[in-house]
Amino acid sequence: MARDVALEKVRNIGIMAHIDAGKTTTTERILYYTGRTHRMGEVHEGAAVMDWMEQEKERGITITSAATTCYWRDHRVNIIDTPGHVDFTVEVERSLRVLDGAIAVFCAVGGVEPQSETVWRQADKYDVARIAFVNKMDRSGADFSRAVEMMKDRLGANAVPVTLPVGSGELFTGVIDLVTMKSVSWHEENQGATYDVFEIPEDLRADAEAARHHLLESVAEVDEEFFEVYAHGGEISVEQLKAAIRRVTLSAQFVPVYCGSAFKNKGIQLLLDAVVDYLPSPMDIGGVEGIHPKTHEKIFRKAQDDEPLAALAFKIMTDPYVGRLAFLRIYSGVLKAGSQSFNATKGTKQRIGRILLMHANKREEIEEARAGDIVAIVGFKDITTGDTLSSREKPILLERMEFPEPVISVAVEPRSKADEEKLADALARLSEEDPTFQVRIDEETGQTLISGMGELHLEVLIDRMLREFKVAANVGRPQVSYRETVTRTAETETKFVRQTGGQGQFAHVKVRIEPDATGRGVSFESEVKAGELPREFVQAVERGVREAAEAGVIAGYSLIHVKVTLLGGSWHDVDSNELSFRIAGAMALREVVRKAGPTLLEPIMNVEIVVPQQYVGDVTGDINARRGRIAGMVPRNDAQVVAASVPLAEMFGYATQLRSLTQGRAVYSMEFAKYEQAPKAVVDRIAHGVVS
Ligand code: GDP
Repeated sequence: MARDVALEKVRNIGIMAHIDAGKTTTTERILYYTGRTHRMGEVHEGAAVMDWMEQEKERGITITSAATTCYWRDHRVNIIDTPGHVDFTVEVERSLRVLDGAIAVFCAVGGVEPQSETVWRQADKYDVARIAFVNKMDRSGADFSRAVEMMKDRLGANAVPVTLPVGSGELFTGVIDLVTMKSVSWHEENQGATYDVFEIPEDLRADAEAARHHLLESVAEVDEEFFEVYAHGGEISVEQLKAAIRRVTLSAQFVPVYCGSAFKNKGIQLLLDAVVDYLPSPMDIGGVEGIHPKTHEKIFRKAQDDEPLAALAFKIMTDPYVGRLAFLRIYSGVLKAGSQSFNATKGTKQRIGRILLMHANKREEIEEARAGDIVAIVGFKDITTGDTLSSREKPILLERMEFPEPVISVAVEPRSKADEEKLADALARLSEEDPTFQVRIDEETGQTLISGMGELHLEVLIDRMLREFKVAANVGRPQVSYRETVTRTAETETKFVRQTGGQGQFAHVKVRIEPDATGRGVSFESEVKAGELPREFVQAVERGVREAAEAGVIAGYSLIHVKVTLLGGSWHDVDSNELSFRIAGAMALREVVRKAGPTLLEPIMNVEIVVPQQYVGDVTGDINARRGRIAGMVPRNDAQVVAASVPLAEMFGYATQLRSLTQGRAVYSMEFAKYEQAPKAVVDRIAHGVVS
């Protein structure tokens, strides 16, 4: 079979925005104009096509990164949905991993909000080529130039207008395209599906000329080839200019800025043209790097069909109609329906059932997926988010996705015996879909605890559990996920001996523990001399240590920031085996932690609040009362941006408090920063009697 869409005609893009900037509406319009949806869903009616899941509709936010395929000017555009809420930054990261370019949507009134900064920085990290869309030009207070200035100031972006708005607020009627030097206005009767292109009105001519001049200069500044043409002073063709803008956008030296109003159906087609004209195809990206799963040698796979298969499962989700879906980005090679593939992460065979191309409102079954495609597969066994699928003969392991630690948890209790099973099933599925969602059983109380990235994250998951999986359960109040650590170095010697008829068990180990704030979790080293303990016993000790560390020693929270060293030990010819060393390792860890001044660490969050001047005093006073530290304050227009770090434990219900302090005029965002020693009162309350 041949390709149905040439590789250079594929675009894998994301639409990034802070919440409320209009990402959902913009996506909706894109799907409408590309002819795939026939009826537009307004967000306030809760009918948005991308927002599949009920609670997303209710909240008007998009959480999952479903991929949707549409077509524009013979190009296949795969839109990978990225969430705007800061509780879900991991979802943003995960989508950035698999997309090649992005549209960044900004609100013409609010400009660059703190959350857009977060997302922008994430995109910088992955070198994602971007075009900007200044949306909501129809709102009163819309200010295109200010939004562009903010992109330069706050994001350090080389943002340059490629379109100009005609009027703003209620008088916003269309845009001027500075590449073609034409004016465009949209027809209202078919919701902007068609539009007129005409000469730039006389009174706007001078502004347009000036803006075009700025555009040409800015491109010439970063592009040698275009500089030659420009410096020559001759006529510049539309093709020449477009090719130059494409080059500088692909190299991430330049961000073309568009404007419009998604809600009023203006400006979207030009944005789609820009996706095709300026954002990269998988060919421009070149390929993907990975390692050989066994030899760990570096491997590069070109974005070509005739290379061996390399695909990344970036999202697992449950679709109400077809069941479990794994979304794959195919980097190289061909994936055929019904074929045998290889999960290089797990080292297992993987049969590929059906392959689906996901459109906004339908699923199209396809025979094969090729380099550059984004597809979903159904009928798989053992794939989790982040797994690599490759050919068995030529395996490759793509870089794993890193997920932050969940910082907040709630207890859930099934109402009946029947719900107990349903709960376990629901939780297993949800945690498979979302690696930042964890489930554990509290050993002391027997309660099921689920943990996630923030209050909203857990709320959404609980909603799904109750609604989608129909589990009747009582849900506790959200709690902070603490961690355990030690404050000093200690050593211990542990013997595990059991003599009960038949074969006994014997293991003897000596371990040291020390604080290690540079490490993430638990690092383990062995200093035993060759011959003192067999290698498999050393490994068994490590396993026991890690298992015990995971379960926690003083209050059931996992141990982090420690280094454990196996100093020595002894064994017995007959009675020693791996199990006895595993048990000894676990016992030793619990003992040595108790000797090493154990304590609790609490999550500290970076909080950023944008607050009008007159409320700054109240807001900072409140932050101080929450054990927060103000890290800095910068003026932004008529507001102040307050940066602070605050213990998560003090941030419950903050949204409500902030609203009442500022009459709803402040916005805030919050992100996990680090773990710090919890105050004594907290440690005493939680790890009562254990800590000396
Ligand atoms: P998201 O949170 O970024 O997905 O934003 P939505 O698309 O849900 O939009 C947030 C709100 O802004 C909704 O009430 C939209 O109707 C509204 N909105 C979106 N685009 C525009 C626009 O261009 N102009 C105006 N006036 N409102 C808009």
